[in-house]
Amino acid sequence: MKTDQNTRFLISELHVRGQIVQLEHSYQGVLANADYPPAVAELLGQALAAVSALGSIIKLRGSIIMQAQGDGPLHTLVVQANNAGEIRGLAHGYEALNEESKFSELLGAGRLVMTVDAQGGKRYQGIVQLEGEQLSDILGTYFEQSEQLKTSILLAANNRRATCFLLQQLPGRGGENPHESWQHAKILSDTLTEPELLELDVEQILHRLFHQQEVQVYKPVPLTFRCRCSREKVIPAIVQMGHKEAMRLVEEQGKIAANCEFCNQAHHFDRIDVAGLFKAHAKAPARPQ
Ligand SMILES: [Zn+2]
Repeated sequence: MKTDQNTRFLISELHVRGQIVQLEHSYQGVLANADYPPAVAELLGQALAAVSALGSIIKLRGSIIMQAQGDGPLHTLVVQANNAGEIRGLAHGYEALNEESKFSELLGAGRLVMTVDAQGGKRYQGIVQLEGEQLSDILGTYFEQSEQLKTSILLAANNRRATCFLLQQLPGRGGENPHESWQHAKILSDTLTEPELLELDVEQILHRLFHQQEVQVYKPVPLTFRCRCSREKVIPAIVQMGHKEAMRLVEEQGKIAANCEFCNQAHHFDRIDVAGLFKAHAKAPARPQ
């Protein structure tokens, strides 16, 4: 079975399009950076699969970040995908969790923030309340609010694989009875079970649902786990610390070590690095972004 890819499909007859994202190695790459309890790892997998699909639906040319912030034990969940098919993600606040909890219990009340960084510096943000039993419910609400297109999202993850099955009505008035066509397609896709989402490949899933229709399947887009963190991106945080505090840390520890939480890569700054950094900063003070 081929995984770590996003396959788009189109069923003109039913006036719908869709995507099937199936992650395995990229998902494992994200999980390897922390010791997540199973319930958190599953939620992270669902979020990663979802953000991979959303990136392509909004004709992304930069990156999309989905961040859930709630008052539950798992107070932060962040996932990101970019137009190169690179994904990453992390969760905070899982230390005290040991039992399997439901999504609504993990995150509690709060909001889901979608930030789209388009190429060229444009940024769009959408916010939806964390209300629903599952992440897929919340994403469904997000689409109802932000787009006028009917969208159905199914998510599944099991610590090994993660899948997002997304079905969306096509824009425009197509077909003889678009409402009936949508209902038909949605009822069919709602019969997909979690094991089917995780174990069947794209061809099998589409055959299982739509063998009576003509389905146009596009070339899959590969997805990989990759973090684009760098030393340069850590610098503003050190500068913000202030010269005195930064030098105190260097005295104390010999260096400033900043570990990237997405990929575990360590970025080190020794005494000379820190001194040089503040010298450069003094010459060219950072402009507000
Ligand atoms: Zn990183």
